[in-house]
Parts: sequence; structure tokens; C-alpha cells
Amino acid sequence: MTRRKFVCGNWKMHKTVAEAVELVRELRQRLNTQIQVGIAPPFTALAPVKAALQGSPIQLFAQNCHHEKQGAFTGEVSAPMLKELGCDGVILGHSERRQLFGETDEGVNKKLKAALEAQLHPIVCVGETLAEREASRTWEVVSRQIRGAFNGLAADAVGRCTIAYEPVWAIGTGKTATTGQAQEVHGQIRGLLREIAGPAVADAVRIQYGGSVKPENAAELLSQPDIDGALVGGASLKADDFARIVAGAK
Ligand code: PEP
Repeated sequence: MTRRKFVCGNWKMHKTVAEAVELVRELRQRLNTQIQVGIAPPFTALAPVKAALQGSPIQLFAQNCHHEKQGAFTGEVSAPMLKELGCDGVILGHSERRQLFGETDEGVNKKLKAALEAQLHPIVCVGETLAEREASRTWEVVSRQIRGAFNGLAADAVGRCTIAYEPVWAIGTGKTATTGQAQEVHGQIRGLLREIAGPAVADAVRIQYGGSVKPENAAELLSQPDIDGALVGGASLKADDFARIVAGAK
């Protein structure tokens, strides 16, 4: 089956509103593509970026959400709030959230259910640390994260998600997984999806690779049979680099 490639830029805690709107202006000039493209600015820039994207096929993603709809959760933002603001989706379980903010598989599962209920397209991030890879625990960790995130979800709900395989040791480090290393895990993830949600859903779900994707390595990574796109951090902050990555994904 041919899956439509999907590339999303994770801007992390970068870009003021003025800088974000300028980057969108540049992206709109450079991106001319049939593939699915998303950008995930910080919360403060979501509304102005939504306005700047009017009439563009580029989708808007948030970088996190809370699992409750509302309540006494100072500093948090809910999935329905993101939906109302015009977000198409939300990144969940990014390794920085797991490592720096204590997010667990159970927490990601709750957020995933909240995002789906709000009709947001979730990108669920999974990936092993260097120590886990060196201890040959990659698949143990990644499969636990996926089973945990999708726990209690019906097959059709799994089918509404994207998974991003992001080896933690490759994020922001300049070290990229080899195409062989990435494809191996992506193939295993596809097999696990088959077990969890059946062959049709497993065939349809996009599995992005993330971890130091650059214009120079995007085309080769994305030519692999089970690599259906990329979640891009650092290189998504420059319009030219991001546009070249998107071009490489075609
Ligand atoms: C990310 O944060 O999701 C990521 C992949 O970052 P980078 O591309 O900078 O490694």
C-alpha cells in the first residue's frame, strides 16, 4: 500500500510570534508539495501562525496537551482548547517531555485518548536512549512505549494516529540512525501494529523517523519501505532546510 508521506517540523521552544509568522511566510513561498506537511510552533505562536497559514495546506500541530478537558491545572492547555484554536494535531510523548518533564507511557495514553476525542491527529513519539540501544533493549523499550500509548484504544483509533520513531541518541545530536537501523525498528513497529490493530490499520498508519534529519539525509531515510515521513527538530527552524527535506520526501 502507498502511504502519503508526512513531514512535520517541531519548533520546540523556539520563535517569538514575529519570528514564527516570518518563518511561515518563507515556508509558504518555498513549499510546493503534494505530501502532508505540518509545523508545531510553541503555544504562544499557535494562533498567529494559524492566521498566517490561511489558505495553505500546511497543517498546524501543538507540541503537547493535558489529558483533562479543563480544570485546576496551572500552566496546562487542553486538547479541546487546541482544537478550537484551529490545530490539526498534537505531538505527544516527545522524548524531551518524557526525560525532562517526567511523562510516562500511562500519561501519554491518557493524552492520546484526549487528543482523539477532540478530533486532533496525534503524533506519538517513541524511541530508546543510547544506553538502552547499547544494552540491546531497543525493541523492548519501543514496543513497551507503543503498547502503553495505545492501551485500550480500538483499532480505528490507532488508525487515526501517526507514530514517530525517534532514537533519543539521535535527537539534536547530529547523529542520525543509519537507514538500516531506522528501517529495522520501523518494520518491527509495523509488525506490532498488525498485532494490535490488524493488517489494514498497520498498513495505513504513517511511521515517521526523527533524529537529526537534514536535507542531506532525508531522501535516503524516506526511501525506506516503512519510513513514511519525518519529525524534524533543528532543521525545521530554517525555511530553506525544511523545504529541502520536504522535497526529499517526495
Ligand atoms: C525532534 O525533536 O523531534 C527532533 C527530531 O529533533 P532534531 O531533528 O533536532 O534531532
